[in-house]
Amino acid sequence: MRQPLVVGNWKMNGSAATNQHLLADLLAGCSSLTRCRMGVCPPFVYLAAIQAQLQGSPIVWGAQNASQHAPGAYTGEISASMLQDFGCTYVIVGHSERRTLYLENDGIVAEKFAAVQAAGLTPILCVGESLEQREAGVTEQVVGQQLDAILNTQGVEVFDNCVIAYEPVWAIGTGKTATPEQAQAVHAFIRRQLAEKNQPLSEKIQILYGGSVKGSNANELFSMPDIDGGLIGGASLKAEEFLTICRAS
Ligand code: 13P
Repeated sequence: MRQPLVVGNWKMNGSAATNQHLLADLLAGCSSLTRCRMGVCPPFVYLAAIQAQLQGSPIVWGAQNASQHAPGAYTGEISASMLQDFGCTYVIVGHSERRTLYLENDGIVAEKFAAVQAAGLTPILCVGESLEQREAGVTEQVVGQQLDAILNTQGVEVFDNCVIAYEPVWAIGTGKTATPEQAQAVHAFIRRQLAEKNQPLSEKIQILYGGSVKGSNANELFSMPDIDGGLIGGASLKAEEFLTICRAS
């Protein structure tokens, strides 16, 4: 039985003051969660404060990105080992906003995935197709390639310490959620791809859905057999809504 996981990706949002209020409300509400593990991924600069506030609580935290390089002359970058210093559990890699806006290709994403694991942290690997790709009927091909970039270079065993997030690009921040059936079909495909190489591992791995998840649609999405929780953008910035999503998982 896979434990449900719901992670808030705050993206470039928040302030010291609003973060503190949000986390206080989440801390007050999270005691009612029986099964779900809750996580938050704030911007880098807030990690120290978030660590101080969440230490010893059931809420875990992580980062939204990491450099693929070991510490060195990379101005403006943050290494995975630095994130480990701040108690991170997870690091999101390959988010579609990173792929599109910062030109991170599958090769870079695979390097970041390895760097995160080398620091002892768990990557949340994001995969997903654009609207154009869905309409062209190549969703499985696209998601398959994104997985293969890691499978073919690092082997299936690395997926033992990994969470996958299926985030159709057309559903991110658009209010347009994939139907539970559309999401389930891709989640099942991802699990099959891994099962071909390692059946027990494929049954263990958590596969999250992301893209316009709200309090009102979380239940139907999370009731699908291969959807193990969510990676939540906008709705993770509102405590009550995020708690509602966590309770649905
Ligand atoms: P929204 O929930 O705002 O659509 O964002 C999803 C996402 O990108 C999470 O990583």
